[in-house]
Amino acid sequence: MLNYLRFAYRENIMKKHLGLTIVFALLLSVTACTVEKPITAIDRDIQYVTVEVIQASLPETPIVVGFDIDDTVLFSSPGFHYGLTNHDGPGSTNLYGDDPLHSSEFWNDMNGEFDKFSLPKESGRALVKMHLTRGDKIVFITARNSSTQSILPEILAQNFGIPKPDVIFTSESPKTQFIQEKGILVYYGDADSDMMQAQKASARPVRVIRSTLSTNNASAYQPGAFGEEVLIHSAE
Ligand SMILES: [Mg+2]
Repeated sequence: MLNYLRFAYRENIMKKHLGLTIVFALLLSVTACTVEKPITAIDRDIQYVTVEVIQASLPETPIVVGFDIDDTVLFSSPGFHYGLTNHDGPGSTNLYGDDPLHSSEFWNDMNGEFDKFSLPKESGRALVKMHLTRGDKIVFITARNSSTQSILPEILAQNFGIPKPDVIFTSESPKTQFIQEKGILVYYGDADSDMMQAQKASARPVRVIRSTLSTNNASAYQPGAFGEEVLIHSAE
C-alpha cells in the first residue's frame, strides 16, 4: 500500500512538471515570435515591402536610384558617438569643441577616418545588389558636411561592390534639388526628412528601419508616417 502511495505521488509530481514544461515552451515560442517588432504605434497602416517586391515593381530598363548613407547603408554611430561624447580635448573637454557637428576637424575625422569603423547594413547590401544586377545607376546623397578628407567612396566601394560610387554631401541642405538633378526615381533613407524630400522631388520614397543601437536621436523618425513603403527587416 505504501509503495502504491509513493508511486501515485511520483506520478502526480511528474504530471505537474510536464504541465509546467508545456506552459514554459508555449511562453517561449510566443516570446520568440514577438521579439522582432521595431514599430508599434501605427503598425497596421504600414506598407511593408521586401527587396523582391521592390524589384518586381521597377521598370525593365535601368533607372537611377538614390541612397542616404547614415543608418541607411552604413551603421555609422560609432564615429558619431565618439565625435559627440569624447573627453579628449584640453581639460577633458570635447576634442571638437562645444558643437562638434559644426567642427571642420570633426568632419575631416568622421569622413576621413571614422567610417573605417562603420558597419555596412545587410539590408543595404541586398538593395544595392538588386539594383546593380538590374544595371541601375546608384547615387549616394548625405546631409553630412563635406570635408577636405573623405574615405566614404572607398568604404562604399569596398562594402557594396560599387566601382566608383557617386557621393554627394549636401552639408545639411535639403536633398530635394540633388534628387531632381540626378533624375532619381527611388530614394532610400531612414529619416523623415529623406521621405519628405524624396516626395517633394517626385521620387518614390522607401524607408529603411533605423537600428535600435543607432545614436541618431536628432532627426525625426516615424516609419510609414508619410504613406511610404517600409523595407521589412531593415534594421540590420
Ligand atoms: Mg540617415
